[in-house]
Amino acid sequence: MINTDLHIHSCFCDGVDLPETIVLEAIKKGIKHLGIVVHSFVPFDKDFCLEENRYQEFIAEISKLKSKYKDKITLYAGIELDYYSTPNVSGFDYVIGAVHYIEKNGEYYSVDLSPEELKRAVEVGFFGNYMEFAKEYYLLVSKLCERPCDIIAHFDLITKYNDKYKLFDTESNEYKNAWQQSANELLKHNKYFEINTGAMFRVGKKEPYPSTEIINYLKERGAKFILSSDAHSKSAIAYNFEDYEK
Ligand SMILES: [Zn+2]
Ligand SMILES: [Zn+2]
Repeated sequence: MINTDLHIHSCFCDGVDLPETIVLEAIKKGIKHLGIVVHSFVPFDKDFCLEENRYQEFIAEISKLKSKYKDKITLYAGIELDYYSTPNVSGFDYVIGAVHYIEKNGEYYSVDLSPEELKRAVEVGFFGNYMEFAKEYYLLVSKLCERPCDIIAHFDLITKYNDKYKLFDTESNEYKNAWQQSANELLKHNKYFEINTGAMFRVGKKEPYPSTEIINYLKERGAKFILSSDAHSKSAIAYNFEDYEK
C-alpha cells in the first residue's frame, strides 16, 4: 500500500485546511510519510502563493507538528518552486519544481487557472496557436533541471482542460517531440517525476499527470516516480492512489 503523499497544500497558500487538520486526516487515512508544501512566491500572482518573508513561519509550524505527531507520522515541509520564483529554498526538506505560468512580452499567463485564461493566453500571447503555447511550456519544464528541485510536478499540466476542450492534438508528432525533448533533459538530471492525481479530484480529469503514454516513456528510460495528490483540501489526500500503485 502507498502510504506516502508529499504534495499537499494548506491554508498557508491556496489550500483550505490548517496543517494540523491535514496531519490528523492523513493519520486517519494511514499515511506514514506526509509532505505539506507551499507555493513559492511569485510577484505577479499573489493569490496562490506564500510571501517569501513567511517561509520560515511555515517551516516552524511544520516543525512543531513534526514533534507533536512523531509517533504516528513522519512529516516534511516542502516547497513547490515555480519556474519564475527566486530559488530561495533554505530550510525546506525538499523541493518540487513546477511551471504554472508562461511569460510572453512581459505578461505572465497561467497555464492551469481556467479554460478562459488559457484561451486568453493563447490568443493574446501566441496568435491563437495552442501548439506553440504547449511547446513553450515544455521548454520551460525542461529548464527545471537548472533549478534546485528534487521532483518534477505535474509534467503535462498543459493538458488540464484538454479532455474537455480538445485544444491541441496530443497524438501529433509536434506535441510528442516537445514533451519527449523535455523528458529527456530531465531524465539526464535524474529528477523524480510525480504521478499527480490532483486534477482527477478537482476537475474530473480522466488520467493523472502525466498521461499513461508519458509515464510509459519515462518508465522505459528508468525514471523514478512518486505518487502525489496535490490536495488542496483534506478530502483529496492520497486521492485515487489505489489505482496507480504500480
Ligand atoms: Zn502545481
Ligand atoms: Zn501543488
